[in-house]
Amino acid sequence: MLTKIIDQANIDLFSEWLKETEKVVIVTHVSPDGDAMGSSLGLYHFLISQKKVVNIIVPNAFPDFLKWMPGAKETTLYDQNKELADKLISGADMICCLDFNALKRIDEMGEAVKSSNARKVMVDHHPFPDDICSIVISHPEISSTSELVFRLICRLGCFDEMTKEGAECIYTGMMTDTGSFTYNSNSQEIYYIISQLISKGIDKDDINRNVYNTYSESRLRLMGYVLHTKMKVYPEHHAAMINLTQDELIEFNYVKGDTEGFVNIPLSIKEVKFSVFFREDTDMIKVSLRSVGDFPCNQFASEFFSGGGHLNASGGEFYGTMQQAIEIFEKGLDKYKPLLTAK
Ligand code: 5GP
Ligand code: MN
Repeated sequence: MLTKIIDQANIDLFSEWLKETEKVVIVTHVSPDGDAMGSSLGLYHFLISQKKVVNIIVPNAFPDFLKWMPGAKETTLYDQNKELADKLISGADMICCLDFNALKRIDEMGEAVKSSNARKVMVDHHPFPDDICSIVISHPEISSTSELVFRLICRLGCFDEMTKEGAECIYTGMMTDTGSFTYNSNSQEIYYIISQLISKGIDKDDINRNVYNTYSESRLRLMGYVLHTKMKVYPEHHAAMINLTQDELIEFNYVKGDTEGFVNIPLSIKEVKFSVFFREDTDMIKVSLRSVGDFPCNQFASEFFSGGGHLNASGGEFYGTMQQAIEIFEKGLDKYKPLLTAK
């Protein structure tokens, strides 16, 4: 049995709203990752089983290694189909906001979601949710939004209606947000949920291969280049940094998703507790931060790179040159040295 972590009042209200709902729009954060897509598609399959008209709208493209997910092809990309997306958002009875806690995380789509008269529900695991939804199912102690979607479906009394396709999507999100169950994954109930998902017929080994072993040759070449030339270790700070400019990305035929997971690699060095990856985009530098133990990379992200996220996995943005970003990072390292080197 699972602990009832979602408030009964939220379950009751969601259940009541669902009865009065015909059209649902599911939205998730910019540059959707495995959990964003997994939770959205997990909920999508469930709502389809409840005979709802469901559309998932994402701000921009998701990586190729998630395209195999059942239902992924039905997703609408806001940046490529704004007119249709705006119509769906304004015509929805209910909007479910998954895996994000503030409208700025869905970029331009935020305005459309904000002005829609639809009833709004948030299901998320990032701390400090903004007041944008009437039902807020926010649990930072849970390692993935996909797990929360599983819990929500069960609490609605609908586990039996969960399909194999839905279970595959939920498993994908749980797996990717825990680095294949290597961090934020000590809760016993995670493994109970996995056993329940397996009972739906999912092949978890196959899902792992689909997500992690379908990369291009150029990604591996880029990884080799990064490890050889572009990874800087700061032994005195127990930290490491990787940076890639647009020119370098172009040279290695970069496609979206190719640098996924790079930020984690330096954490495999014994002494490294904190890793940062700067990737130059067309208009800004995307910052990814990861830590092990109790170093708060979300605090570092918000202090220096207008970002946030989780204690051990966060992100942000920087408007300026790569050199400036690195300088700020190194100043930050000095400031946080006591915490980074604390035993
Ligand atoms: P990633 O490094 O994979 O892009 O992001 C890791 C986590 O950091 C995400 O799950 C999300 O919680 C958070 N995150 C990423 N980018 C941003 C950002 O620009 N702002 C905020 N507030 N959080 C971010
Ligand atoms: Mn997530």
